[in-house]
Amino acid sequence: MLVVMRSHASPDQIDRVLAAIRDMGLTPHPMPGPTRTAIGITGNTGAIDANLLAVLPAVSELIRVTKPYKLASREMKGEDTLIQTPMAPIGPPNFTIIAGPCSVENEEMILRTAEHLASRGITLMRAGAFKPRSSPYSFQGMGLEGLAILAKARARTGVGIVTELMDTENADAVEEAADLIQIGTRNMQNFSLLKRAGKARKPVILKRGMSATLEEWLMAAEYILAGGNRDVVLCERGVRTFSDHSRNTLDLSVIPPVKALSHLPILVDPSHGTGKRAFVPPMALAALAAGADGLLIEIHPDPDHAMSDGAQSLDFAAFDRLLEDLRRLAEPLGRTIV
Ligand code: PEP
Ligand code: MN
Repeated sequence: MLVVMRSHASPDQIDRVLAAIRDMGLTPHPMPGPTRTAIGITGNTGAIDANLLAVLPAVSELIRVTKPYKLASREMKGEDTLIQTPMAPIGPPNFTIIAGPCSVENEEMILRTAEHLASRGITLMRAGAFKPRSSPYSFQGMGLEGLAILAKARARTGVGIVTELMDTENADAVEEAADLIQIGTRNMQNFSLLKRAGKARKPVILKRGMSATLEEWLMAAEYILAGGNRDVVLCERGVRTFSDHSRNTLDLSVIPPVKALSHLPILVDPSHGTGKRAFVPPMALAALAAGADGLLIEIHPDPDHAMSDGAQSLDFAAFDRLLEDLRRLAEPLGRTIV
């Protein structure tokens, strides 16, 4: 349920509604808006006795939220969420580029990548220190040492860090090193990890599970939001289908329904979505045209010798060409590349 307060509601009147909700054993989520405050309610297993709230001063309206996800829904919050990071905002009208290698491989390649991004005005870099690999014999990432390299790159270039959190064990270290915490496709329904991300003080990029429906994905986002972290960014990275011409099927058709059903921003990862670097630029441009709020994209100083996902990584020159094309397409679409 959503309690909509009158536009002139005083802080005391809002507090009274919050207290009444808590007295009912439920959790209030105040959402100050440009014209009025709304208060989302979660925690109920059955119907809420609306009369107890309707009679309180300055309550304007009570709206039942019909979707199973509440805090993630447009019904609960009509305005698009704009997420602030120290480097770049994520959410309309921005189109936010996050680029970098699949993995932290060594200090030199991370510094080179960060410097290249900074020189092109790109302020967020991705790179995994903890890597979820299909094979236990593949490179598993540099772990804590990788996080230290990322921290150094951030200190030296000012570029913000996006890095994956794979397990609760390393949550404190990843939260400390990251400007945005990535949760990967394989962990989309790792509920203990989602609950931990809900307690994090950093925004979370939640990738879509490789066979998750839109509702399952938004329910996963709901875990993080319900835990108290309002800063969730969705990321479409391709789903499993019968197609074998690409690594995954990049489901750009999910963007319009995400925008209709949720206020959360959505990024697209055309690298994991296609698995082949030649397919990355066209799908990146298509993501912008389809209404995505940005890209999570793999680039590498020497893709042919990358320790993971080289086949889908752009080299710096190809990335620069893509950036030019994105900037040209963004303007008529009313989007600003950040
Ligand atoms: C990644 O971003 O490097 C990654 C492992 O992504 P995904 O979880 O989408 O496979
Ligand atoms: Mn990768």
